[in-house]
Amino acid sequence: MTDHTPDAIAAAFAAQTAGVVTRRTRFGLAERRAALVRLRAVLAQREPDIIAALSADFGKPETETLLTEILPVRQDIAHAVRHLRRWMRPRRVAPTLAMLGTSARIRPEPRGVCLIIAPWNYPLNLALGPLVSCIAAGNSAILKPSELTPATSALIAAIVAEAFTPDLVTVVQGGADVSQALLALPFDHIFFTGSPEVGKIVMTAAARHLTSVTLELGGKSPAIIGPGADVDQAAAWVAFGKFVNAGQTCIAPDHVYVHDDVRPAFLAALRARIARAYGDGASPHLARIVNDRHAGRLRALLDDARGKGAQAVLGGAGEGRHIPPTLVEAVTPDMRLDQEEIFGPVLPVIGYADLDGVLARINARPKPLALYVFDRDRGFTDRIIAATSSGGVGVNLTMAHYSHHGLPFGGVNHSGIGAAHGEFGFRAFSHDRAVLANRFSALGLIFPPYTARVRGLVRAVLRLLG
Ligand code: NAD
Repeated sequence: MTDHTPDAIAAAFAAQTAGVVTRRTRFGLAERRAALVRLRAVLAQREPDIIAALSADFGKPETETLLTEILPVRQDIAHAVRHLRRWMRPRRVAPTLAMLGTSARIRPEPRGVCLIIAPWNYPLNLALGPLVSCIAAGNSAILKPSELTPATSALIAAIVAEAFTPDLVTVVQGGADVSQALLALPFDHIFFTGSPEVGKIVMTAAARHLTSVTLELGGKSPAIIGPGADVDQAAAWVAFGKFVNAGQTCIAPDHVYVHDDVRPAFLAALRARIARAYGDGASPHLARIVNDRHAGRLRALLDDARGKGAQAVLGGAGEGRHIPPTLVEAVTPDMRLDQEEIFGPVLPVIGYADLDGVLARINARPKPLALYVFDRDRGFTDRIIAATSSGGVGVNLTMAHYSHHGLPFGGVNHSGIGAAHGEFGFRAFSHDRAVLANRFSALGLIFPPYTARVRGLVRAVLRLLG
C-alpha cells in the first residue's frame, strides 16, 4: 500500500496487531519459509525492474545493483530458509544445583508487529534484508523505505504487495513526517537504519512506548595502512570500499591514515586503481550522488577543506550529480571533511609516523561502525584492534565483513545498537522467553512459616550454594 494518511497508517497497524495472537501459533516454520520463498520468487521476477529503478534513482551500475542490492537479499533468504529450523528450536538449559528437579528452556518468540525504517543508500538491500529477519522470526512488519529513492521505494511497495498480504507486511511510503507518524504507534520492535541524528529521534520515540530498538547507524569509519602493508592490496580494497556506490556506504572507509614509509607507494597504487576502474570523466562504473542537495553538501565539504589549506590531489568537484573519485591531502581537524561523515567519493589521505597519535584520534571520537587495518604483521593489526572499539573490523580488506552471515553486523553506541544478519538478525526480531518447569523441585521446603527447620535449611543452602 502506498497511502500514508494518518488514518491509513493507523488502519495498517490495527490490521497487523489483530493478527499477533494467531501468528504465535499459526506462523510456524513452514509458513515463514513459504513467505520467504515467495519473496525470493518475486525478487527474481522483478530483477530487471530493480536494476532499472536503482539506475533511475542514482545511476547505480547494473553490476553493483546485482552485487550489493539483489545478492545480499537473496543470500539472506537462502541462509534463513536453511537455518530457520535450528534458530527457532527452543534451547535447553542445564539445571543448576538450586534448580534440581526443574527443566529450563529458552524459546525464541516473535516480538509482534515491527517497524522497519530504511535509508536511501542501499535502498533495496537495507529495506528487504531486515524484513527477511523480521519474517523469519515470525513477526509482521510495516516497512518505510526512503523518500530519496522514489523509483526503488515504489518498486519495493509493489514487490511487497505481490509477495505478502497487508496483515503480514505493508509498505508505507513517505518522508520524515510519515516516519514520525509511524513512530507514534506502539510497535513491538523498531529496526532503524540511517544516520545517528535520526537514530536519536527514533530511540526517543521508542522510549515513549518502551519499544525495543535495533539501530543501524553510521559515522566516520577509519582505515589504517601500516608500514608493513601490501600497498597494492590495501589500495585495491580501499578504492573498492570507498568508491562502490560512489562512497554512499555506511561502512565505507571515511578517511585513511597511511604510515609515512608507504605513503607515496600507497598513493601511487590508489591512483592507478582509480584510473583503471573509472578512467577519466563521468564513468558508467561509478554511481551518481543521490540528489543535488547531497552533491552540494560534498562540494561544500571540499570547498571548506580547500579554503583551510587542503589539496585535492585527484578528482574534484565534478558536475551535477557526478563527483569523481577524489583524494584529498593535508586535511586538518578544523575542516568539516575531518568532522562529518563524508558519505561520498571523497577520501582524505592522512600521513602518520606515530601510531599512538592515530589511535588517540580514533579513540577521541565516537566509536565507528567499521575500522580497517592493513598490514602483513599480525602483531600490528592485533594491537590496533585491542586498543580501539568499533562495530566491526576488517583486516586487509574492506566491506566484506558485511557479507559473512556468521558475523553480527552492527555498530556500538554512536554507530548503532544491536546487530543484524543471519541468526543475529533473527534474534534482533525475537524475544528470548525463559521457561522453567517444575518436575520434582524441593524448593517448596523453604516456604513459610519459617520454622527452625526452614531456617536451618536456608543456612545450609547458603553455605552450600553461596
Ligand atoms: P536518514 O537518517 O536521513 O534517513 C533514514 C530514514 O529515516 C529514512 O527512511 C527517512 O525518511 C527517515 N527519517 C529522516 N528524518 C527523519 C526524522 N526527522 N524523523 C523520523 N524519520 C526520519 O539516513 P539516510 O540519509 O537515508 O542514510 C544515510 C545514513 O545512514 C548515514 O549516516 C549512514 O552511515 C547510515 N547507514 C547506516 C547503515 C548501517 O547498516 N549501519 C546502512 C546504511 C546507512
